[in-house]
Amino acid sequence: MKIGIFGGTFNPPHLGHLAAAQTAIDVLGLDKLLIIPDAIPPHKALPENTPAPEHRLAMAAKLGDALLLPEVTEVSSIELDRAGKSYTSDTLAALREQYPEAELWLLMGTDMFLTLHQWHEPERILSLAGICAFGRTEQDGEALFAPQREHLMATFPGAKIVTISLPGLVDISSTQLRAMLAKGEGADDLLPSVYGYILMKGLYDTHADLKHLDIPQLRACSYALVLAKRVRHIRGTEEEAVRLAQRWGADETMARRAGILHDCTKYLSGQEHIAICEQYGVPLDSLERTAPKLLHSKTGACIARHVFGEPDEVYEAIFWHTTAKADMTTLEKILYVADYMEPNRAFDGVERLRELAYRDLDKALLLGVETTIQEMEERKLPVHSNTLQAQAWLKGHGVTTEG
Ligand code: ATP
Repeated sequence: MKIGIFGGTFNPPHLGHLAAAQTAIDVLGLDKLLIIPDAIPPHKALPENTPAPEHRLAMAAKLGDALLLPEVTEVSSIELDRAGKSYTSDTLAALREQYPEAELWLLMGTDMFLTLHQWHEPERILSLAGICAFGRTEQDGEALFAPQREHLMATFPGAKIVTISLPGLVDISSTQLRAMLAKGEGADDLLPSVYGYILMKGLYDTHADLKHLDIPQLRACSYALVLAKRVRHIRGTEEEAVRLAQRWGADETMARRAGILHDCTKYLSGQEHIAICEQYGVPLDSLERTAPKLLHSKTGACIARHVFGEPDEVYEAIFWHTTAKADMTTLEKILYVADYMEPNRAFDGVERLRELAYRDLDKALLLGVETTIQEMEERKLPVHSNTLQAQAWLKGHGVTTEG
């Protein structure tokens, strides 16, 4: 098994780290990548506004989650949990014990590679792991790397060193980003999920007013609240909701904001859903208490209203996007249908739903509601009373799925 070890302060992690990690996974053919935020870096002092360790760990986890094949990535608190300076040699020795058979590869950028011989116990490091070095800027080529590689090989016989170039090189440092963030800049060099996390936690002197975020900031916060694999669906729902709003004369901005936030509580636990409902006084029926997954629409609506300051229309659209209900507004219908048939959805009948959505919104809504009812019945699961009421209301108003 080949394990890559990517250590750093990750204060904050940025797109340069992402490009390096992704390329190393591919070039080395890693079976696993460990991202390891350090506690007390031996090479540099942590600046004063460095967030608490749990924030650096959470941001590093978002870096891991954003890599293709996130399942090979693990964020480790091994250095944060250890007292004293975070010496790489100690970390490698611990990992060698944990993975006695594995081939270990230590990843590092130019700055780290060029000073490696000055680190604590370099001979121990080079005996425990191969080194995979990569440039951080266009100028960091063979001319810079070759003398250091030869010096290390001569000083530490048997050392394994590979230097790779990053196709998607991003010339940025965390130091630059911290300065940019304090001035309201920096979003372009960060993963949206990391940027959103920074805004929501108020890290690096960002001081964002969460109740007045612009669209890119709102997207970033939404993506910070979910796993990376859900982002495509959220983006698809946002765009579909806007197209439907244009078609049916609803407010495009509200449709967009509702689409962006509709799944923001999707990964909360049942207990967390129930706690949010209790906090904001949302009554729960017995079905919702036993199947709290149904609750993400209600808790998502609460977060949209109370954290992000969204108006009632957006709150209601998110609130009803899972079960539907009798007598829905146009915006509520739009979000329900957009969520069902956005471009990433694939199931038998989705083409018919897409066609209906732009021809007759009520027919599309009824088709969505009846598809859900049928699916629940096939899976022998109870159907929510609001879904049955939506069906009855539409049929009672002459809506059919025919034609
Ligand atoms: P700071 O500016 O706070 O010193 P940094 O941007 O150098 O931080 P670290 O978390 O210390 O980031 O870096 C972790 C590892 O990632 C190091 O090996 C570093 O060389 C490498 N690295 C940092 N930035 C880049 C980049 N833009 N491209 C490639 N590798 C990078």
